[in-house]
Amino acid sequence: MHELSLIASLFEILEEKAAEKGSKRIVSVKLQVGQLSGAIPELLKTSFDIYKKDTIAAEAELETVEVPFKVECNVCHTQMIKDDLIAICDECGSMDLKTLQGTDLFLLKMDVEI
Ligand SMILES: [Zn+2]
Repeated sequence: MHELSLIASLFEILEEKAAEKGSKRIVSVKLQVGQLSGAIPELLKTSFDIYKKDTIAAEAELETVEVPFKVECNVCHTQMIKDDLIAICDECGSMDLKTLQGTDLFLLKMDVEI
């Protein structure tokens, strides 16, 4: 399951950040999940719950926020929502598009108890 390895990487970041703050307990985690990230929010939650046992996030809840795939045209600077990585600008037909969001996972927020 792809999500389990994503969660394993997430925990490395969480533990590092918690250590920076001098905290031993994470109470909640909010993750932004891109539509084209290849990860399914429900599976991320399930993986999180499996993984969190015996970690500093054992009591934590994972909240996910889904975001669509959004691009900006490098030619006419129009921003648009697309559902495929291979996309063409709606306005000028250019294929020179810059990804703004939607292809990865992003840690939005982490609450800890000090
Ligand atoms: Zn354009």
